[in-house]
Amino acid sequence: MDGKVTIQGMVYDVVIIGGGPAGAAAAVYAARKRLQTLLITESFGGQSIVSDEIENWVGEPRITGLELAQKLEGHVRQYGDVVTVREGRAVAVGRGEHGGFVVDVDGGGREEGRAVILATGGRRRKLGVPGEDKLEGKGVAYCSTCDAPIFRGKEVAVVGGGNAGLEAVEDLLPYAKHVYLLETTDALRGDPVTRERVEKNGNVTVILNARTKEIRGERTVTELMYEAGGEEKELAVQGVFVEIGSVPNSEPVKSLVAVNARGEVEIDSKTAATSVPGVFAAGDVTDDPYKQNNISAGDAVKAALSAHEYLKRN
Ligand SMILES: Cc1cc2nc3c(=O)[nH]c(=O)nc-3n(C[C@H](O)[C@H](O)[C@H](O)COP(=O)(O)OP(=O)(O)OC[C@H]3O[C@@H](n4cnc5c(N)ncnc54)[C@H](O)[C@@H]3O)c2cc1C
Repeated sequence: MDGKVTIQGMVYDVVIIGGGPAGAAAAVYAARKRLQTLLITESFGGQSIVSDEIENWVGEPRITGLELAQKLEGHVRQYGDVVTVREGRAVAVGRGEHGGFVVDVDGGGREEGRAVILATGGRRRKLGVPGEDKLEGKGVAYCSTCDAPIFRGKEVAVVGGGNAGLEAVEDLLPYAKHVYLLETTDALRGDPVTRERVEKNGNVTVILNARTKEIRGERTVTELMYEAGGEEKELAVQGVFVEIGSVPNSEPVKSLVAVNARGEVEIDSKTAATSVPGVFAAGDVTDDPYKQNNISAGDAVKAALSAHEYLKRN
């Protein structure tokens, strides 16, 4: 990057950041209100693109993550007359000179909009222990739907006893020789039906009050070190799935709008408005407690309609 910033000249009515269910839904609704829209995204589809089977996208009893991504992108591109798609990563959103907002894009370039809708979603939370980064992709994994088959016949640990951890165990069971499920508290969380299924399975060992300390291995994972009851313990495993939740991708707006202690953008649940008039947010990047495709899309519809109302008044 040479540090130069290109002002494109065009001031859009709305700049949407993100191409997951939230960003796509916002774009479709903005287009139908004939708002001149710019959608900046690194990719289309969002986090569930890796899923082999999504069974709760309403209207589609079964769809793969890839098919959903293609449908979202196709729907947005139908409105090519008013929606411009720019591939890239937004790094910062700030106030513009004329009352609107500017969005800096990685690699140079600055876009301008009278309103902004943030739909950047989230990413998987890391453990932050020694060995995790070094062994990522070499036994350390974050997506059981994607990577479970790689662990055929192997001993695997899943870290995290919430819904994501339980689902990872179930993804692994058809392949792994044995699965250890580590949870930091004294009980598994997650929905009772899945919990019961996992607890009853003879091929799963649940280890409670266990704090992961290190992941070891020269080239690939060979051990997971954890602490339980004040003692250091070791598990001989060839895989570690980290399922401890997600982190919101709110970095581009952190110094502009209010975020909560988890870094999630605080929104008004009726309007998807943030603390700054003209900036709206929807989906997994927000403080909405339910992180789901349908909810992300629905909240984004609120964001687009609210942006339209805002633009009529400003
Ligand atoms: C493995 C997995 C399976 C799941 N399965 C289901 C399921 O079956 N059903 C369900 O309802 N939910 C499921 N979820 C949850 C669901 O995927 C999320 O709730 C949903 O994707 C959130 O949508 P979003 O649009 O808010 O964000 P995301 O899906 O995270 O999309 C964000 C988009 O923004 C882009 N982006 C991020 N930062 C920037 C930036 N700075 N600049 C430009 N672009 C950026 C990304 O490339 C991405 O396209 C699953 C999640 C995972 C991880």
